[in-house]
Amino acid sequence: MGEKMRPLGVPFEKLKIASFDFTCCEGCQLQLTNQEASLPDFLDLLDVRNFREISSERHDDYDIALIEGSISRQDEVERLLKIRKQAKILVAFGTCACFGGVNSLKNRHPVEELIDEVYPGMAIETLPVRKISDLVTVDLSIPGCPVDKGEVERIMVSLVTGSLVTLPKYPVCIECKAQLTTCLFELGEICLGPLTRAGCNAVCTSGKTPCLGCRGPAEEINMAAFLELVKERGLSLDDLHEKLAFYNAFEPFQSHET
Ligand code: SF4
Ligand code: SF4
Ligand code: SF4
Repeated sequence: MGEKMRPLGVPFEKLKIASFDFTCCEGCQLQLTNQEASLPDFLDLLDVRNFREISSERHDDYDIALIEGSISRQDEVERLLKIRKQAKILVAFGTCACFGGVNSLKNRHPVEELIDEVYPGMAIETLPVRKISDLVTVDLSIPGCPVDKGEVERIMVSLVTGSLVTLPKYPVCIECKAQLTTCLFELGEICLGPLTRAGCNAVCTSGKTPCLGCRGPAEEINMAAFLELVKERGLSLDDLHEKLAFYNAFEPFQSHET
């Protein structure tokens, strides 16, 4: 860990942190730098050793590695293994890293056909998309497409102070109903809010857009009951399948589908 500070006389150490992007849009890293009001305080917690969006410094002596993106090339596999050897705490940072994310849509189509269509005649090196935990041990996952800035800051404070790091166990519906929104099922849409881990303050459904489950499964979800709900309402199972597959976050539960 890094330089010692003594706010209010309580000693703590800055986190030596590095952030690395793999196959992704870098939107999750950008979320941190967007947090202008609290960014100076946030950076006070951190000793940034390698973080392209924040600093030109490049050092290899980090303790915490934020891994953004999924893995889709062999050189990424090798880079990830090297980072894992150095990091004491490796964080899957964002939905691409935690679940594969939107990149996983590629796995649903023959990749050669896609290359012929998009990059005809070009040699493109690409592998099926994998989430970070398919390749290395992940110590902590922070889901979200993108991650929620407030949640990341809260988790970093927990790491600095040695407190328990937690994510909400309950589903998005709890945050959605707290805002007195009309349920999108009442408007004839399939919303994955009942299945999905809260923590985004129901940002999509409060804007009348169905939840697509970017934060992955909440604890103890009941996929069979959710499927019954969709059937009872006469909603499209194809639409359900599309939504569940969008971020690849419900892969372990998709055998319940019909
Ligand atoms: S999780 Fe979403 S915002 Fe974050 S890197 Fe992936 S696509 Fe971008
Ligand atoms: S709109 Fe979605 S998140 Fe909101 S209550 Fe209905 S199912 Fe739950
Ligand atoms: S409402 Fe659903 S899709 Fe939207 S940010 Fe929250 S978890 Fe992600």
